[in-house]
Amino acid sequence: MTDQPVSTKPVVLELDDVHASYLQFKALFGVSFSVREAEAVALIGPNGAGKTTVARVCSGLVPPSLGRVLVNGEDYSGKNAYEFALAGIAHAPEGRSVFGTLSVEENLSLGFRRRFGRAGVSDALTKAYELFPRLGERRKQGAGSLSGGEQRMLTLAAVLVLEPKLLIADELSLGLAPIVTDDLYDVLQRILSMGTALLLVEQHVDRALELANEVVVLERGTVTHHGHPSRDDILTSVFGTREVAS
Ligand code: ATP
Repeated sequence: MTDQPVSTKPVVLELDDVHASYLQFKALFGVSFSVREAEAVALIGPNGAGKTTVARVCSGLVPPSLGRVLVNGEDYSGKNAYEFALAGIAHAPEGRSVFGTLSVEENLSLGFRRRFGRAGVSDALTKAYELFPRLGERRKQGAGSLSGGEQRMLTLAAVLVLEPKLLIADELSLGLAPIVTDDLYDVLQRILSMGTALLLVEQHVDRALELANEVVVLERGTVTHHGHPSRDDILTSVFGTREVAS
């Protein structure tokens, strides 16, 4: 089912008939959708559907074997993840991607020094702690001893301070208490209102749909629903009923 929303905002990222494989294994079969400035797209679907693979294609980690990836209208299909990052595409991957033996501040400083130079690190840290005051309180603490939610905050802070045009958040709420997920989604709402586009790969369907302007349902590497985030439609599409609680 396809009921694509009409929006006139500029497209930040577009997948055009993308196929992708891991060696002989074909994971995506002709995936097409776009993400617009200051809009959120929720990418949902069952385990193994190919959501993470789509996220990787969107950030240059997996190249399409067929089809195109456009960033701000330019063909990025052959470019690498670093070039995607320079174009403003930030990827907060699934799981805990922090250096556990380094402190919060050391983790953040590593990326900030590379992007802003030594002189820009202090300002960047201030911005990170404004976004996530909890990280400021724990700046000297080893990242490995943070809670799951705090580690997710650290991952997000590291990319949000770079002011990306698009943030790809893969399973942000996975394994987190609802109250922690609320905090993270409050920050996402804030950055959305500041103009950043979001691609939310989520198992927590309700949470993603609250924020989304558009939803893409992926099943077995194919888009089976693309349109407005009407909860009934999504439940029918993914679970075959309108009665299932997500
Ligand atoms: P989940 O919600 O379980 O994380 P997903 O929808 O994100 O699933 P993907 O992780 O994109 O799905 O996986 C899609 C398919 O590609 C799966 O069959 C998976 O086994 C396969 N796959 C994923 N990563 C690799 C890889 N690095 N090498 C080989 N196959 C892979």
